Amino acid sequence: MVLVFGLVAYAPGKLDGAYHPAVYALAMVAAAFARPPAAFGTAAFIILLESALRLIALGQRVEDFWPSLAFVGVFAFLNLSLFRAEIARVRRLSRLHIEGEIERMKNAARSYRLIGAPSSALERGSVPPRNEEERLLRSGVDEIHQALEFALDLLRRTLGLRTAVVLWLDAPGKELHIQEISTSDDSIVPGPFSAKDGIFAAAFGQRSPVAVQGAKAAQHTPYYGEQPRVGAVCAAPLFEHGHARGLLVVDRESAEAFSAQEQELLANATTFLLRAIENERVFVQLERAKIEQGKLYRAVDTLNTAHTEAQVIEACVASAREFTAFDFAVVTLYDRSTGEHEICAVSGEGQDALVGQRFRHNSGLVSMVVANRHPLPYRGDYDPGRQVVFSRRLAPPPMPSLLVLPLLVHERALGTLVLGSQRRGAFGESVRPTLEVLASHVAVSLANARMLKRLEEMATTDGLTGLFNKRALIEMAAQKIKSSTRFKKPLSVLVCDIDHFKKVNDTYGHDVGDIVIRGFGDVLRRTKRDTDVVARFGGEEFVLVCEETDSEGAALLAERIRAEIEASTFHSAEGSLEVTCSVGVATFPAAGHDWDSLFKATDEALYASKRGGRNRVTVWSPRVGVAA
Ligand code: GH3
Ligand code: MG
Ligand code: MG
Repeated sequence: MVLVFGLVAYAPGKLDGAYHPAVYALAMVAAAFARPPAAFGTAAFIILLESALRLIALGQRVEDFWPSLAFVGVFAFLNLSLFRAEIARVRRLSRLHIEGEIERMKNAARSYRLIGAPSSALERGSVPPRNEEERLLRSGVDEIHQALEFALDLLRRTLGLRTAVVLWLDAPGKELHIQEISTSDDSIVPGPFSAKDGIFAAAFGQRSPVAVQGAKAAQHTPYYGEQPRVGAVCAAPLFEHGHARGLLVVDRESAEAFSAQEQELLANATTFLLRAIENERVFVQLERAKIEQGKLYRAVDTLNTAHTEAQVIEACVASAREFTAFDFAVVTLYDRSTGEHEICAVSGEGQDALVGQRFRHNSGLVSMVVANRHPLPYRGDYDPGRQVVFSRRLAPPPMPSLLVLPLLVHERALGTLVLGSQRRGAFGESVRPTLEVLASHVAVSLANARMLKRLEEMATTDGLTGLFNKRALIEMAAQKIKSSTRFKKPLSVLVCDIDHFKKVNDTYGHDVGDIVIRGFGDVLRRTKRDTDVVARFGGEEFVLVCEETDSEGAALLAERIRAEIEASTFHSAEGSLEVTCSVGVATFPAAGHDWDSLFKATDEALYASKRGGRNRVTVWSPRVGVAA
């Protein structure tokens, strides 16, 4: 706008010259294409800018130029209302046109049974598959059209016909309409025509071609708008697996009757027509299967890259979206040890509160699916008012369609995938089998993720106490020492060793020794702070790594542990027993700068505690090091 004003101001005549209307043109474009607030803003901006230019730069008075500004306003307003309405009208028309085209194509596809009735893939509504499916159907319908057209043209030429037409039944025994036609007449009407009388009914009844010639022939060609001279007509029925689909009707001007040979040719032509349709049907099915397979392949690929339970669940919901449109999705996992189901992931507006909710095994759909390992509800008929999905307390938003699929591995349900849709009949036979396959892949990935987690746990935890093992602790300690170095914070390491533990083993046996070790672990877990890491380092020796803890703090913690152990009683079948422990403490950076030197220092401190009479705490100092 500024640029246009600049150019106009330099042009001859300036703002009152021949180029000034460019401003109107710009106002018009803005008003027609911008959103209304922006259009008003632009018009206001033009008026202000022009006023400023005229008042300040050109020294004009408002009385002289206000009509020019009024024109800008009027232009903008007229365009805003008229041009916009026109654009909207054209858009609507073209949308209607496209929708009409698609509808016609769908109807043709449906009459050739390239798609089934309602719950077909096309009605699923998710965007990318819909396009793919449309493309597929369009090519199928085109192929059939070409094959039929070719056959009808050929017949017309070889038999000297005026018209060869394929009439299709809307529904069994109902009306006929023109599906495909080859004719030299231009007064054709599309139908519908009755299938109940004349040679049409006779051909269906007799299941073979019926011919009429002479004066009566014209009564059997209802597809002509203006009845031309018809000398002979023949109708051959189209039967598919015993079901009447339509008729092949031919007529010619000459009164020469259709001979037995010609009728046989027509009967053969019907076989050809039906085969062309059947071929295309098979082809479309194969293509559709290929598309589904591709999607499944991609879904499995995504699932394979998911290594944690959370990633698998996320991939599961994302993949399900590839196959069907839904408004609500939930993954539940069943914990056999507690008999509880947990809602692990939710996709759906305003349903986040469901995440993390648990409910007991009950007679709801999710529980039943886990117990019986079959999808529910049967046939997808779901009544939100009467059926319980999770529990009486926890319910999904009410929706007319719902599907609960088991996540099965080796005939065991790990949980379920629950899908909901606002569309009636959203989870019909056309999507269920694929969703079931997807669910089984999800289940396998889920089992793998769990196994991976178990393996990781096994690699990092000590079997007897459930604490970290030596390897895991050294790894974590190295990390913590690194960050302590960086942030210049203290860090302490504690080593606790049970006193005279050999005696416990010798007196009560190894099993009782294990009970004491486990109990010792429990005491440490209880006593340490949340940020401290504790591990069983081997035998009856435990190590703690405490971040941001100086030697005083570490000494206090060590003393607390020592006192806790001294006060604890461990119970076994052989009776109760008590033990004491010795603790060694060393602090970074005074006692060492890396794990090895720190650990050596704690060991020296522990040795000092043992030598000093056990059941005590020693904090490392250079003196302790020298003594050791
Ligand atoms: P000290 O007071 O000097 O520590 O004497 P101690 O007898 O505790 O000596 P030490 O720490 O060297 O002994 C470790 C003993 O712990 C040796 C072994 O019999 C026992 N032990 C090691 N691992 C296990 C285990 O997993 N279970 C049981 N029950 N005993 C174990
Ligand atoms: Mg010991
Ligand atoms: Mg020991």
